[in-house]
Parts: sequence; C-alpha cells; structure tokens
Amino acid sequence: MLRALLASITALLTLTTSGGAQSPSPRNVIVITIDGLRWQEFFTGASRDYFKRDRNGSGGDAERRFWKDAPEQRRSALMPFMWSTIAREGQVFGDATIGSTSRLTNGLWFSYPGYSEMFAGRADPRIDSNDKVPNPNVTVFEWLNGRAGFEGRVAAFGSWDVLPSILNVDRSRLPVGSGWNIVPNPTTERERAINQLAADLPRLWGYGPPDAPVVYAAIDTLRTRKPRVLYVMLGEGDEWAHEGRYDLYLDAASRADRFIERIWTTAQSMPEYAGQTSLLVTTDHGRGATTKDWREHGKDVPAAERTWIAVLGPDVPKLGVRRVNVTTSQIAATIASLAGENFAGAVTGAAPPLPLR
Ligand SMILES: [Zn+2]
Repeated sequence: MLRALLASITALLTLTTSGGAQSPSPRNVIVITIDGLRWQEFFTGASRDYFKRDRNGSGGDAERRFWKDAPEQRRSALMPFMWSTIAREGQVFGDATIGSTSRLTNGLWFSYPGYSEMFAGRADPRIDSNDKVPNPNVTVFEWLNGRAGFEGRVAAFGSWDVLPSILNVDRSRLPVGSGWNIVPNPTTERERAINQLAADLPRLWGYGPPDAPVVYAAIDTLRTRKPRVLYVMLGEGDEWAHEGRYDLYLDAASRADRFIERIWTTAQSMPEYAGQTSLLVTTDHGRGATTKDWREHGKDVPAAERTWIAVLGPDVPKLGVRRVNVTTSQIAATIASLAGENFAGAVTGAAPPLPLR
C-alpha cells in the first residue's frame, strides 16, 4: 500500500517536473543547423556512386575517409559525434530507410522558407525567395527573448548574410553575428582575432566566411556572455553540393559534426550549462535523391522536402532513431519546450513540439 502510494507520488512529481514551465532548474538550448545536408548522408553515410573517380577508379581522400561497407559504419565515419552521442543518448528523426520521415511543409524547399518554417513554427507562403526581406513572422528566438529570464540572453551566428533578415533584427533586436561581422561589436582581443580570421580565410563566397570562425565566435559567446539560447547556422556543405563537390560536401558534414561536438563539450564543461542544456541539430532542406540531381534542391527537385532532426538533453528520453513522421515546422515549439516555454500554446498556427516522450 505504502509502496503504491510512493509510486503514485513519484509519478505525479515526474509529471509536474516534466511539464516544461515547472522545470526545476533553468533550461538552456543550443540549436545548430547544417544547410542542405541530405537525410541520405545523415542516416547512411557517403554514397559510393557520387564520388568523382580518377583514371584508376579511385574516389580519392573522401572515399578513403568516408566509405565503409555497412551504412552504420559509414554514418559513424561521417558524423562520429552524432552517432556515438546524440543518436545514442538522445533521439533522431527522419530515417526514411525505416519508413520514418521528417519533411518540410513549405512547398519551396530552399533556405529562407525552410529557416522561417523551422523558427516560426509554420510555413509562410509570403517567404518565397532568399531575398533580404525582414521576416514578418516572429521566430521562436525573438519570442523567447521577450520571455522572463531570457531577455538579452539569446544569440545567433551564421555566415549567410540573410540570417539577420530571417530573424528580423530591426524588430527583434537579437544580436546576430553574420556576414563579415561574425563578432558584431568586438571588444576583446579574441573577438577581434576571430573577425580577422574570417577576413583572412579564402574568400570563397561573397556574403561571408566559411564556418570555422562562425563556430569560434559562437563558442566565445558561450564562454563570455553565457546566452540561454544559442543558434549557430552552418552553411558550407550546401555551397559545395551546388558546385558538385561531393568530397567537400562530405568534408563539411564531417567538420560540422566536429563543431557540434566542440560546442556541446564546451557547454557541458561550464556549470551554467552542464546537465541543464539541450541540443537540437537539423537542416533547412534536403536535395535531389539521384546522382543527376543531388546537387540541387527546390520545388522542382523530387525528395528535396526531406529533412532530419537530432535532439539531446536532460528532458529528452534516450529513444535513439524514432519511428514517427514529423515536420520541420515542429522545431520552433520544440526549441521553446526544451527551454521550458510553450510556443505552440502562445502562437496561433504554430505546429506542436516533436513527440519526444
Ligand atoms: Zn542551396
């Protein structure tokens, strides 16, 4: 009898503490996106048909690094931290090889519509280009920044210079490191060095630097400003895919995994974050599913609506690869819920959080 009573009290306490807003300790969230990384590479690693071969039939360094016989070995070779830690201790969505899908609900399947859907919690047909149009939608980052305990404690970084428009910085007042101002107002020697590195790297794309200095700036902010919500946008892989460079596309995915591990272990080494921080990693769109169209994405490229989502944290049960269909629009409410807040209940039309329990 006593045992039954204790069990029901424990169950009640568990229910109360898992309700989000009543979380015992303040929750932090780190969100990282990898632009245009296909579910195919995410769940099954490199595909042999995509390597460019030399006269001797060799796929070169990329094939040596990333080709293994079994799909589980290949995905671990490509993204070791993802598969050894996030997928094992958290959850991943979108494995089409077991019939589960994660997909966009916007019908356009390119970046701005994807990021807007992800962070506003629903597709918006007004977002129909990658132009620097201030987002009419309030993103979950802007919304959280207006909640008690989060004011001034939300930060975002991304090389792509459309990010300030996606987050509507003029309205949201969110600090966003972007383009050639990866650290917006550098005050320390280290911050100035990060901006210098960004400018000193090869100028591969006109809008901003490769991902490394973006990650350095994000980690520096984690250490010095300790935001409760941090967003890091990684973008190199999509560029290499458009160029048809499968080798560099894989290398970018592999480095993204290393960046994610570094950001996560930095957070876990700090008392402000350890044990009370969640991590959500995802992508803004898929790409074509054949050797002919894998470079491209957009509404005319079949299968480019397919995405994937990975989640890890103190409120995320260890369920591994999930067999459930989800959408990118569920991410905004999931981010809020991991932070202990209810976005879906507050914003009309926003999709519900991912079914993590
Ligand atoms: Zn693209």
